[in-house]
Amino acid sequence: MQGPEQIAGRANVLGCRVDLVDMAQSLRVVSEFIMKGQPRQVITLNAEIIYAARRHAELRQVIEGAGLVTPDGAGVVWAARFLGYPVWERVTGIDLAGALAAEAAVQGWRVFLLGARPGVAAQAADNLVAQYPGLRVVGTQHGYFQEEEMERLLAEIKDSRPDLLLVGLGAPYQEFWIHRYQRELEVPVAVGVGGSLDVLAGRVRRAPGWLIRLNLEWLYRLVLEPRRWRRQLVLPCFVWQVIRQKLGGTVEPMAGNGPPAGGEEE
Ligand code: UDP
Repeated sequence: MQGPEQIAGRANVLGCRVDLVDMAQSLRVVSEFIMKGQPRQVITLNAEIIYAARRHAELRQVIEGAGLVTPDGAGVVWAARFLGYPVWERVTGIDLAGALAAEAAVQGWRVFLLGARPGVAAQAADNLVAQYPGLRVVGTQHGYFQEEEMERLLAEIKDSRPDLLLVGLGAPYQEFWIHRYQRELEVPVAVGVGGSLDVLAGRVRRAPGWLIRLNLEWLYRLVLEPRRWRRQLVLPCFVWQVIRQKLGGTVEPMAGNGPPAGGEEE
């Protein structure tokens, strides 16, 4: 079976690691992680996070220490290819979540969904079970908990003994959260899935297939959620830095440990 050591390699995009994997390979790698049972973090990495990581050493370390880092988003795929790496498809949080749910139903993996507004994770679970009969969702929990509720939440997740924890708390908070608690939870695989639970619950619609194929899903989300424009302001800066990387190797991570949110600090 394909394992993480057999991942074809890693791209270096602005000093950040991105694994050279497609969806099929990602699924094989996750299967192996679950088989081995040691806690492994999966990150679907987009351009905003890569750009934020330039200034945030802790975020870079979380990415570096993850078990699998997939290329999420048109920006990352473009950057990796522009830099000469063989990356052909996006492995997004929503696609990975769906594919993992399908695989979980076949393999009998126990799945826990954490994140989004109250009711959303439970609705996502219902929809997934309807779509993939036999899927074992062993628990759901919304993502607006207080610090003092954390102990109860951690106990609930741990007691339900999931093989796979999908965490939709928004990036990069979910990446820090997984990094901090995964070992304690003893969950073999935890994946940051951003707003995927909203989509799986039917609360947010994905872009039409033809827009996704044209790599224009970001534009669709921008039109639907104009508040995202501040986050997406970072994309031209990202492109510029990638061009500089290709031309001159000027991609040393920036010093400092500034705010990890994508773009707002620019
Ligand atoms: N969210 C959450 N708890 C929080 C903040 C956000 O559960 O304290 C959820 C939010 O409801 C949404 C997801 O995190 O479901 C973030 O979605 P977004 O599309 O902004 O994230 P991205 O996919 O861009 O990381």
